[in-house]
Amino acid sequence: MNIAVIGGGMMGLTLAYRLSQQGHKVTVFESNNQLGGLATYHDYGSFVWDRFYHVILPSDTQLINFIKEINLGDKLRWRPTLTGCYIDQKLYSISNTIEFLRFPPLTIIGKFRLALTLLYGSRMKNWRRLEKITVEDWLLKISGRNTYEKLWQPLLLAKLGENYKRVSAVFIWSYIKRLFSARDSKLHKEQLGYVAGGYKTVFDQLEKLICAAGGNICTGVAVKYVKPDSKGGLWVEHNKAKEHFDKVIFTGPVNILQQIADRSLVQIGDSTVEYLGVICMSLITRKALVPYYIVNLADLRIPFTGVLGMSNLVSLQETAGLHLTYLPKYVHSDDPLLKQTDDELRSLFFRGLHLMFPQLKADDIVAAHINRAMKMQPLQVLNYSHLVPKIVTENDDFFVLNTSQFVNDTLNNNTVVGHVNEFSEKFSSKHFSA
Ligand SMILES: Cc1cc2nc3c(=O)[nH]c(=O)nc-3n(C[C@H](O)[C@H](O)[C@H](O)COP(=O)(O)OP(=O)(O)OC[C@H]3O[C@@H](n4cnc5c(N)ncnc54)[C@H](O)[C@@H]3O)c2cc1C
Repeated sequence: MNIAVIGGGMMGLTLAYRLSQQGHKVTVFESNNQLGGLATYHDYGSFVWDRFYHVILPSDTQLINFIKEINLGDKLRWRPTLTGCYIDQKLYSISNTIEFLRFPPLTIIGKFRLALTLLYGSRMKNWRRLEKITVEDWLLKISGRNTYEKLWQPLLLAKLGENYKRVSAVFIWSYIKRLFSARDSKLHKEQLGYVAGGYKTVFDQLEKLICAAGGNICTGVAVKYVKPDSKGGLWVEHNKAKEHFDKVIFTGPVNILQQIADRSLVQIGDSTVEYLGVICMSLITRKALVPYYIVNLADLRIPFTGVLGMSNLVSLQETAGLHLTYLPKYVHSDDPLLKQTDDELRSLFFRGLHLMFPQLKADDIVAAHINRAMKMQPLQVLNYSHLVPKIVTENDDFFVLNTSQFVNDTLNNNTVVGHVNEFSEKFSSKHFSA
């Protein structure tokens, strides 16, 4: 069959690869000039690496198996990394059990209650009842005020910005669930992974495999309209032409789906879903800023909400011997900060940088790149699963597969691959012959 996949992010490309394995001729339409969507790459001048920080956890088994399946197993790299916490203007390492037991801001009871929260959260199955309580109330109840203020609140701020106050406990439950198995039980050290060359390696390989199977990848092509053909199949109109396909699968965000799908194709329920946006400064320096992969911080003087020392995970050979640190700030998608110019954001972030690292010299800084995503993920507020817009396709040739439907998961590529695998199995049993 002749199939169009709209969206050349991780979802669209994984799906296009799976469908070409089933013998279909697949065309991917991506509106940007490069593939990858939120997981795309950025040219930092002397090297190319992910635009936003991406890491693979040892528990991301569906993603790891997929990477191996597309012959990139030998490019997977694993490293023990350190975790830090910035509290009361001091940096603490909480990378192993001993450091954690010594962690001064937490009382003995606080440490015990934290361990209990992790155990309880990782074993809990019924996430639906967590939708009814805010993450703050749930953590205060289970972990207590001391652990909440010294550990959880910085982490929530790092992941959600000020929006954490309205988010349900499902957020932290899905986070604990994913993170809990991230520690290598033999080494008792956190092992994190990446693909040599970053996500660009994955997208280049998928493009190669899809094209080798007779498919097409069209970048810089925004789909404007999809409508049914009275003789069967669908018409896809884009900024270059109008093409006919037997099936069309949409993988982009819901607001775009509303704009491009003919009304007869899909019913989209009313949505009150709010989104998080992210501003991320990628700082390139000659010296490492921190020895940690991640530092969570709760300091209202500092405009960014985390420090991700990518070069403590990724070999310096990947980044031309320079250190890459990401400084993200998560904000509501309506926040005017998202509309500030790169120069305004750079000076705002630099003010925070100098407060946190007064020893940092201008000579150590090679470059600072500002990237942003206006709508990166839905805000999982109370009763979120009831707010997710119901998407009902009304035409047998049109399908929607996107991350807006994740209700009890964090946004990550392991879940993306899992969803694609499930979808393509069902698709193959229904449309067996190519
Ligand atoms: C700051 C940040 C950190 C992250 N860290 C991690 C991490 O450590 N580990 C992890 O696993 N995941 C991480 N993620 C999540 C990961 O990036 C996502 O899971 C993944 O990118 C989702 O892919 P997707 O294809 O579903 O969506 P998208 O990447 O949004 O792709 C959708 C694509 O559709 C295209 N499109 C939309 N409309 C049209 C149209 N009309 N015509 C043609 N094309 C169109 C868009 O341009 C886009 O490329 C992170 C994300 C962010 C933002």
